[in-house]
Amino acid sequence: MDIISRLSDNIKHMPPSATMIMVEAARHMKAQGIDVINLGAGEPDFNVDPHICHAVIEAIGKGQTKYTSVDGISELKQAICEKFKRDNGLIYSPSQINVSPGGKAVIYNALAVSLNPGDQVIIPTPCWVSYPDMVKFFGGAPVIIKGDQSRGFKISPKQLDAAITDKTKWFILNSPSNPTGLVYTQTELRALGEVLQAYPHIMILADDIYEHIIYDGQEFATIAQACPTLYSRVLTMNGVSKAYAMTGLRIGFAAGPEEVIKAMAKIMGQSSSNPASISQWAALAALCGSQSELKSRLKIYQKRRDFVCQSLAALPLISCAVPQGAFYVFADISKLIGRHTKAGTLIADDKLLAQALLEEAHLATIPGTAFYCSGFLRLSFAADMDRLSDAMKRLGDFLKDVH
Ligand code: GLU
Repeated sequence: MDIISRLSDNIKHMPPSATMIMVEAARHMKAQGIDVINLGAGEPDFNVDPHICHAVIEAIGKGQTKYTSVDGISELKQAICEKFKRDNGLIYSPSQINVSPGGKAVIYNALAVSLNPGDQVIIPTPCWVSYPDMVKFFGGAPVIIKGDQSRGFKISPKQLDAAITDKTKWFILNSPSNPTGLVYTQTELRALGEVLQAYPHIMILADDIYEHIIYDGQEFATIAQACPTLYSRVLTMNGVSKAYAMTGLRIGFAAGPEEVIKAMAKIMGQSSSNPASISQWAALAALCGSQSELKSRLKIYQKRRDFVCQSLAALPLISCAVPQGAFYVFADISKLIGRHTKAGTLIADDKLLAQALLEEAHLATIPGTAFYCSGFLRLSFAADMDRLSDAMKRLGDFLKDVH
């Protein structure tokens, strides 16, 4: 039997995650003994703090290894309420909190419980790879708004207004942004909020996963706080992966309308059940423990950002804007298109460039096309300075030979 034909149309039409493809390709090369520098994965290189590791061990010792409530233990939900109050001035009760196995799962669950075929989801681009594909998987239609490169890829209230229809169900806003590092100010969020004010049928999904990685003293703002009148229809999503370097522990969370939160628990009860119990105790330790590491890591990220941006500025045929948040540079590589690498590969597009960089320079990056913006390359600077400096050298050598 042709098994492939037995798979669902939805999964057949879904492309694999471009970030995951690159991560796997780099992992495969490493396993073969090749010294690959992975600037593809969006993953902090830091180790988990000792007090968080201790919480994991303690949870195991205490036998916290059974099923928990499907959408999170009450202690963690309470800590998440406190986090939202402390960091964002947002007041939630535990019944408004969802804990899922990672930020990705929060978004997936939220879309799973809300989209009907034909529902539209407005997504500013460049955007994280998985939003549009998740929307399509649930029969929805992504409505892409192209961020203006000359405005740091931010969208304007006018663009948002023009994208809204009767079928709009969600507006997804990610700030600081993956992949561009753009950060919306409180004033800019208010201006977007004013547009949304006139359309009470639209829910807003704020992806705040990079909240704590924001540079040059700029203040983080989130839409539910900037626009209190929208509070009742905003789902604010966050997690411990990026802030506390806990990617593999898979804990994401969200706060928002009780009806959506309840529905998300229902789908979890029929699918994943609870996020790993010990990871939940680890997340509790992260949120309740000292937050001083966030500041020291931020200083390190900022140094790395400055180093990578200065290094790129000194290279030919590539340029980048200085990101205000997250840990990526989104480099313009359009001048490389149509040229050839040393090995003779035609750089026909950003995908072929990323492939050539991986094969010829052993440098993993993600092509801009994955983020709905061709002619760019995303490089993560969540790597130590030695690796970054080696990466910049490899990139420089690669570019020197491009003709
Ligand atoms: N969000 C990270 C990235 O963009 C992790 C990978 C993923 O989940 O797509 O690289």
